[in-house]
Amino acid sequence: MVALASLVTHQIGHFIDGRFVQPHGRLFEFLNPSTNETIGAIPEGSPEDIDRAVSAASRAFKGGWSRTSPEERAELLFEVASGVEKHAEGLARSETLNTGIPIAQTRGQIHRAAENFRFFGEMATKVLETAFPARDEFLNYTLRRPVGVAGLITPWNTPLMLESWKVAPCLAAGDTCVLKPAEWTPLSANALATIIDEAGVPNGVFNVVHGLGEVSGASLVAHPGVRLISFTGETTTGQEIMRNGSSSLKRFSMELGGKNPAIIFDDADLERALDASVFMAYSLNGERCTSNSRLLVQRSVYDDFIAKVTERVKRVKVGDPFDKRTELGPLVHPDHWKRVVGYIELGKSEGAKLAAGGRRPPKLGRGNYLEPTLLTDAEMSMRVAREEIFGPVLVAMKFNDEKEAVKMANDVAYGLTGYVWSRDGARAHRVSEEVEAGMVWINSHNVRDLRTPFGGVKQSGIGREGGTYSFDFYTDTKTVHTPLGEHQIPTFGKSESQKPREENSDGR
Ligand code: NAD
Repeated sequence: MVALASLVTHQIGHFIDGRFVQPHGRLFEFLNPSTNETIGAIPEGSPEDIDRAVSAASRAFKGGWSRTSPEERAELLFEVASGVEKHAEGLARSETLNTGIPIAQTRGQIHRAAENFRFFGEMATKVLETAFPARDEFLNYTLRRPVGVAGLITPWNTPLMLESWKVAPCLAAGDTCVLKPAEWTPLSANALATIIDEAGVPNGVFNVVHGLGEVSGASLVAHPGVRLISFTGETTTGQEIMRNGSSSLKRFSMELGGKNPAIIFDDADLERALDASVFMAYSLNGERCTSNSRLLVQRSVYDDFIAKVTERVKRVKVGDPFDKRTELGPLVHPDHWKRVVGYIELGKSEGAKLAAGGRRPPKLGRGNYLEPTLLTDAEMSMRVAREEIFGPVLVAMKFNDEKEAVKMANDVAYGLTGYVWSRDGARAHRVSEEVEAGMVWINSHNVRDLRTPFGGVKQSGIGREGGTYSFDFYTDTKTVHTPLGEHQIPTFGKSESQKPREENSDGR
């Protein structure tokens, strides 16, 4: 058992078959984004490490976890939820240390992680199985069976929350897993392993293998013993994963990038639209897949609204992520900082106006700090209006009417979320229907109910998770058919005089 406090400064190993495995092979340092000093190091996960972890998960699956009752699994997940709650402050601090997300926001994320374990624990006992009685002759019913070993691959932006989003339904469904956390933010995964172990989840049910995506991640995807891959990350990585997993015909859930519009009509409650749009652009340091990174504003209110947004953005508090008043912390890694700054420079060269931010804040000389940035008067032809930046950069554009707003909203490769602001209810619903996105909020920022489906369309993903949708992914549905009496069975070869009977199946 590794104490949670010690995870912050020590080299951390993989967690396989209920114990931390001493690291071997190359080590990779991970950083504190506020200073870019090293926090610790993770081992390069080799294909052999992946194989050991998949074997352990497979033994645990066949050895009993898949046959535990939903009630037993629910109890264990409630214990995990309590463990997360018990260590909430330490976990929030370690997330802030490793990601740079302000502490007030990581506290919220940890709370949601605990909720995920509790919610999917409850769902384990409530998942619907269906019966289809047919003409008093037949009863057909469905059973949900666990599938096997799942590979869970997560990004760096909200590590523990996204890990819980995958691990909780996976275990609730009776599957076992190997988690491959992002290499820049590995800290919380081992804390989660400790909590899951302490909760009494049997050895091998939950395993963690660290390392680089192209090595340990790719080995997990290619492993023939893995039946499911739940991936959250960049669209291009998702494409690569689907190619690599195709030969073993895995089931994929893909939660990918976004370039989500907030559409502000002139009849909207502009004060509320302002609050929500600024929050959704800069919370989680702008490293948020559901961020409204595009602001589409109706021409008649554009100038006034943008003036207010500019004023607000300039006042967003940037600084030490451990200060509870901080609203925007340092970006996760110097490479990512360079990428985001590159996009700001690109936007300026494409002709967008830099209305706020764009630089390192003068008083924050080290770390990956960046001022909250607003690019205005952009056009849909610009790359900054079409590509995901995944940082604190909001790109604003104007539209004339509803038709143009919808056209602009849909004129990107992505389709994760959309936000529609209007007091005209009919229009808000019409536009919500037209916007190509997996999730749309009307007159609201992102407020999520765990029962609702989460996922994107187009290049933003495949499949839905959340509520019963997660169980659709993590279980196989089996149909059982049984007659209720002595139904007629065709009698091939029995007698020549018998009249042929029409077959009542679809021939498959
Ligand atoms: P990424 O795609 O670079 O990495 C995600 C994970 O995939 C990491 O663990 C990485 O090691 C692993 N990986 C990389 N190459 C791999 C390969 N060939 N095989 C297997 N695994 C591999 O993404 P990121 O930079 O960590 O995260 C940012 C992206 O995540 C953004 O595009 C963002 O929109 C997206 N995201 C989406 C959602 C959503 O729910 N739709 C949520 C959060 C983040």
